[in-house]
Amino acid sequence: MTSSHETATPGKPTANSMRRALKRASNGVSLDVGEAAVLLQARGNDLADLVSTAGRVRDAGLEAAGRPGVITYSRKVFIPITRLCRDKCHYCTFATVPGKLRRAGHGMFLSPDEILEIARRGAELGCKEALFTLGDRPEDRWPEAREWLDAHGYDDTLAYVRAMSVRVLEETGLLPHLNPGVMSWTDLQRLKPVAPSMGMMLETTATRLWSEPGGPHYGSPDKDPAVRLRVLEDAGRSNVPFTTGILIGIGETYEERAESLFAIRKVAREYHGVQEVIVQNFRAKPDTAMRGMPDAELDELAAAIAVARVVLGPAARIQAPPNLVDAEYALMLEAGIDDWGGVSPLTPDHVNPERPWPQIDELARRTAESGFSLRERLTIYPEYVRRGEPWLDPRLLPHVTALADPETGLAREDAVVEGRPWQEPDEVFVATGRTDLHRTVDTTGRTGDRRSDFDDAYGDWDAVREKSAAVGVPERLDGDVRTALAQASDDPAKLTDDQALTLFHADGAALDALTRIADDIRRDTVGDEVTYVVTRNINFTNVCYTGCRFCAFAQRRTDADAYTLSLSQVADRAEQAWEVGATEVCMQGGIHPDLPGTAYFDIARAVKESVPGMHVHAFSPMEVVNGATRTGMSIREWLAAAKEAGLDSIPGTAAEILDDEVRWILTKGKLPTATWVEVIKTAHELGLRSSSTMMYGHVDQPHHWLAHLRLLAEIQQETGGFTEFVTLPFIHTNAPIYLAGVARPGPTMRDNRAVTAMARLLLHGHIPNIQTSWVKLGADGAAEMLRSGANDLGGTLMEETISRMAGSSYGSHRSIRELEGIAEAAGRPARQRTTTYGQVPAERIATGLASDGHLPELLPLAEAGPSAPHAGHAATAPSSE
Ligand code: SF4
Repeated sequence: MTSSHETATPGKPTANSMRRALKRASNGVSLDVGEAAVLLQARGNDLADLVSTAGRVRDAGLEAAGRPGVITYSRKVFIPITRLCRDKCHYCTFATVPGKLRRAGHGMFLSPDEILEIARRGAELGCKEALFTLGDRPEDRWPEAREWLDAHGYDDTLAYVRAMSVRVLEETGLLPHLNPGVMSWTDLQRLKPVAPSMGMMLETTATRLWSEPGGPHYGSPDKDPAVRLRVLEDAGRSNVPFTTGILIGIGETYEERAESLFAIRKVAREYHGVQEVIVQNFRAKPDTAMRGMPDAELDELAAAIAVARVVLGPAARIQAPPNLVDAEYALMLEAGIDDWGGVSPLTPDHVNPERPWPQIDELARRTAESGFSLRERLTIYPEYVRRGEPWLDPRLLPHVTALADPETGLAREDAVVEGRPWQEPDEVFVATGRTDLHRTVDTTGRTGDRRSDFDDAYGDWDAVREKSAAVGVPERLDGDVRTALAQASDDPAKLTDDQALTLFHADGAALDALTRIADDIRRDTVGDEVTYVVTRNINFTNVCYTGCRFCAFAQRRTDADAYTLSLSQVADRAEQAWEVGATEVCMQGGIHPDLPGTAYFDIARAVKESVPGMHVHAFSPMEVVNGATRTGMSIREWLAAAKEAGLDSIPGTAAEILDDEVRWILTKGKLPTATWVEVIKTAHELGLRSSSTMMYGHVDQPHHWLAHLRLLAEIQQETGGFTEFVTLPFIHTNAPIYLAGVARPGPTMRDNRAVTAMARLLLHGHIPNIQTSWVKLGADGAAEMLRSGANDLGGTLMEETISRMAGSSYGSHRSIRELEGIAEAAGRPARQRTTTYGQVPAERIATGLASDGHLPELLPLAEAGPSAPHAGHAATAPSSE
């Protein structure tokens, strides 16, 4: 045993510091890490004092939750789907090696039959939870695991977990709770529809226990505390009810233990997604590197539980596993737990096999002795059952509803546990809601409105404010403008980062000089023609729970302005657009929770079937990931299938700013930068071209713009798939992040000119077309951008809703003549183009000119409701720039 294994005991706290901390806890004053560390050492009378405070906090919380005196547990079976793991934690007996499994006659993974047999027997015994426990990504370390997955047709372990979760739901009715270790943001999306809850112990935030040789987590890539905290955050962003916790006594100091609790509190507050916190004590096991280390004392555990309760507050659900507390049930209850976790009448605790679970009757008796009653809960906590969307995927709703008491959200005593189909919700693609928002949104008093769940839907605004203060520090610059301008004019490819930043800040005469240079480069690169496309926007639904904080388009399905188009309405709109000369439809929508991942294919197909010549430009990277994760396909497979269905190119929206720090401020749950890049590159590789975008002028700074443009140039260098770069000034008026006082009120005209000019310079040699947005800047603003390096005006749009709902007052469509008028105002000729900047067939041009690209009037909508033709297949998708 090395010193890093020992529970370090820094100098005992003084009687005074203990007294002070106890008093503050008792008075409900919020503690700091130092005080919490002191309280973690409370013993004897001090501990009695502490647990009594903690017990009061818990009681108040249960009272507020409407279940005073109720301690919960979940009746479960334990499914150790694989005991192979790429990590090597020194205390672990769960993980094993392929040789041992083979010698014992076991496969590398439990087979589907073995899994279902466990689940079925559990269902017979009244269990409602199937706890899937497994090692972290075993295929990365063990070729045998990779071979097993290949032989059985699974891309990775999580694909197998997903498939088995569906079978357990369908064949037994048990609700999966998944503990697959570290998951990426994408993993969380693909598992969310098959499991009402997931979990991963944080264990500790003490990095040294992971990074220093001899530490219990040394050599275990998934035990880096920063990685684990990122998983907690991603789960919160993805609205996954998530279980986490700390493991005490593995060598962390009291200070580090306290820090771990504060880290959990921070994530819980920010995203409201931590459904329970487990406080688990280390128990030494034979055959492990830490076998000689003393078990954490139960007094130590009680103090940790009590401090967790005081730090995390009354609303937290705190659990101690009953098989690890010896006979000290009463002490743990006193200390403030309100849950005993999963208890199995069937399977052993495979992580602590030497410690059997108590019988449930025994647990009830012990709980009653302390004056509480024991009630069964589901794996998803009652608070999340009652909150429903977006915490509960619609595909799991029937399974959870069948087992949940409608009053309390706890388990129903008379529930029948039986398999139910796991499928897309019925009647989801029915046309619903207003579909005239492009016309009436500004006149119906909506402007300036906030959603009633403003303080909840976007996470915690204080946390967002704090993060934004950190990224929004204005840069100090002492660069030489003249040299930078000279370099820009000479060879923009050689602009250094410092020079580029200097130019991003240019103003007055320097800005005029910069835009002149950009304008010259524009002329040399693409000539004088100002291009535009005759296109129609079709935003097939605005129902979305992603929680982007800049988005005023997204609605809950119950909101007055929520709508969804049916497939026939989408097709009719495409047809109508064709009649007035369109060559393209641009289709994006919200991430509707009912949306099947294949609906996007139906949308593309519907348009192509109805108007074969129409270019389908659709589905932002967020929608692509949504489609892929919902179908369980890879991004590549999904894009290939979408192409097959009629998709021609994708918008490079959902990019916002390609910097995760800024993205997580702007959006609660949107895809991370790396995933955006993956989608775009994969699309390009498959021959699906895309635009590229940047939304700026909120909490960002010029160095973010620089990095964003450099990244786009790099991608283009590799794939050549971008058709254009589109500047998207942030529309602040109705944006939640502005209403909450976090974001700036959009970019200034100076910013717009500088960004347009710098895009021209920094993308020179990579992306020839720079598009400006009349929707966001108006005709005069767009004309100014045409003089600052832009050469494209985007499209006629015909029916723009997204910016309009955000508060843009520049209308929802422009006629061909109006677009040509903008070009003329900039002193340049205009040319209609295709999506990919090619020549438009003469027939299309003539049709467009005859109608001026104007819809005579919007199509009368099909009757909303199930009787609408083709209803039952409407569509949805995301991203709202
Ligand atoms: S930007 Fe798109 S994904 Fe984000 S909330 Fe709005 S509609 Fe949903």
